[in-house]
Amino acid sequence: MSTLKMVILGRQGSGKGTQSLLICEAYGAIHVSTGEMLRSAVAQASTLGLQAQQIMESGSLVSDEIMNGLVAERFNHRDITEHGVLLDGFPRTVAQANALESILEGRGQDLDIAINLDVPLDIVTDRMLARSRKDDTPEAIKRRLDLYEKETEPLLDWFTSRNLLHSVDGVGSETEVFARISASIADNTEASRLSASVDTREAQR
Ligand code: AMP
Repeated sequence: MSTLKMVILGRQGSGKGTQSLLICEAYGAIHVSTGEMLRSAVAQASTLGLQAQQIMESGSLVSDEIMNGLVAERFNHRDITEHGVLLDGFPRTVAQANALESILEGRGQDLDIAINLDVPLDIVTDRMLARSRKDDTPEAIKRRLDLYEKETEPLLDWFTSRNLLHSVDGVGSETEVFARISASIADNTEASRLSASVDTREAQR
């Protein structure tokens, strides 16, 4: 199977993290979670961590400049080229999506699919209050969800306009949701590539 370059989108608390691990296990892709990269930078008290800590605790977004640099650097590692990637938490803004497109273009690569894990607002709020991460105060949760609507929802249009967006119902058991995601990846990557190559052959006749 050829390597896949995928993005997973969804509100915080949508189950993105869990589903990302299942997807990476099934498809052999490298899980690149920008939230995890930032949390480990904070834990190491690196320069990046010191810059990011307060921003993360308040529920705001780290600047596009920092995030784009971090992801561009991560793409220099050979594992992504060899195994494919699932980006989780990036892009979060249209500016980040444009940067991702340039990073991939520079490598002669394309994105294969953007999976939008769809879970209603009231359900994600309850889930986030139930987990007890340090940055999950009610204020930070509200702030992050508000920001998601404002900054990240336009991304859905961005991916739709490139014919990459596939929404999956994220309500259900982990297994049920994963089965829906796998079906969507199967329907919209290998199959669409095959039909694209058939179209090309037909066009060449
Ligand atoms: P996450 O684990 O994806 O929910 O990310 C945790 C926090 O890290 C977010 O609330 C942001 O403060 C920061 N963060 C993670 N990814 C990004 C990104 N792509 N752009 C800006 N901030 C980010």
